[in-house]
Amino acid sequence: MKTESKMRSDKQKIRGWYMLIPLFVTLMLAGCSGSTGAQGMSEDGRLLVTATTGMIADAAKEIGGEYVEVTTLMGPGVDPHLFKASQGDIRKLDRAAVVFYGGLHLEGNMERVLEKMAAQKTVVAVTDNMPRERLLSAESESDEFDPHVWFDVNLWMSAAETVRNTLIAKDPANADAYREQGARYLQELQELDEYVRGRMLEIPAEGRVLVTAHDAFGYFGRAYDVEVVGLQGISTAAEFGARDVSRLRDYLVERNIKAVFVESSMPARSMEAIVAGAAQRGHEVRIGGELFSDAMGESGTPEGTYSGMIRHNVDTIAEALK
Ligand SMILES: [Zn+2]
Repeated sequence: MKTESKMRSDKQKIRGWYMLIPLFVTLMLAGCSGSTGAQGMSEDGRLLVTATTGMIADAAKEIGGEYVEVTTLMGPGVDPHLFKASQGDIRKLDRAAVVFYGGLHLEGNMERVLEKMAAQKTVVAVTDNMPRERLLSAESESDEFDPHVWFDVNLWMSAAETVRNTLIAKDPANADAYREQGARYLQELQELDEYVRGRMLEIPAEGRVLVTAHDAFGYFGRAYDVEVVGLQGISTAAEFGARDVSRLRDYLVERNIKAVFVESSMPARSMEAIVAGAAQRGHEVRIGGELFSDAMGESGTPEGTYSGMIRHNVDTIAEALK
C-alpha cells in the first residue's frame, strides 16, 4: 500500500513538472524515482532496461549490446506465474527507462504493478505484436492465451523484433547499432529454429512424445511436431490431483513411453510419483532429464542464455527419446 501511494504521488509530481518544462523534462524523466544521474540512464550513459524473465533479458542484452544495461527480475528456477515483486524489484522497475515483460498473463501477480508503471514510462509486453492467430489458447478458463511463446523459436523472433523496435524508438541515437545487432540476433534465432527441427526429426514420429509436469511446451509441440502431455494446467498455480497422476501413469504404460522430464522451475516430486506408479504396473519409465521451462539456467553457464536453454532442452529430449 505504501508503494501505491508513493507511486501515485510521484505520478502527480511528474504531471506538475510536465506543465512547467514540457519537452526537457519528458526526455529526462523517463523514470520516476529520485536516484542520481540522468533518469533511466546508467552512470556511464547506458539505457537502463529491466526485463521480467531471463529469456526477455537475453534479447535485450544481445540487441542492446553496449548501449544498454539490462536487469533481470526473475533468476534461475523462478516461477513467473507465482512471482511477486519485492520492494527491491519495484526499485529495479522504477529506475529503468524501459521495462519489458512477457504479457499474456505470464506474470500473473505483477500485472497491476506493470499497468500502473505504464502510465509513467515505456512498459512493453514482448508478445504485443505477435499475430493472435499464431497464439495457442490457454487451458485455464481465466486466461485467453498460453503465454509460453518462447518455446516456438520462430514465434519468439517476433518478441525480439519488438525489443529491437522499442530500443530504436527509445534511443534513436543508437538506432543503427540496434538494427545491426537485432539482425544478427534474429539470424541466430533462425538457425536455432532449424537446429531444434533437425534434432526432433531424429526421434521416430511415434515416440515423439514429451511428458512434463506443467503445460509449458504447447508451442514447442506445435512448432516441432511433438505430442505434449502435461500433468497440470497452463499455470503452476493450478493444483494437480491423484487422478491426474494415475491418468498420466496409465497413458505411459499404454503408449510404452520410456522417459518423462522434470522442469527446473517445478518440484520433481510429481514426476517421481508417476515413475513410481508406472513401475507398480510393471512398466519402466525413467526421468529423461531436467528441462528448462519458465526460467533459464545460471548466468555464466550455457543454459543461462536463451539459445543455450533451448539447445539443452532439445538435446535432452532427443537423447532420451531417439
Ligand atoms: Zn509456465
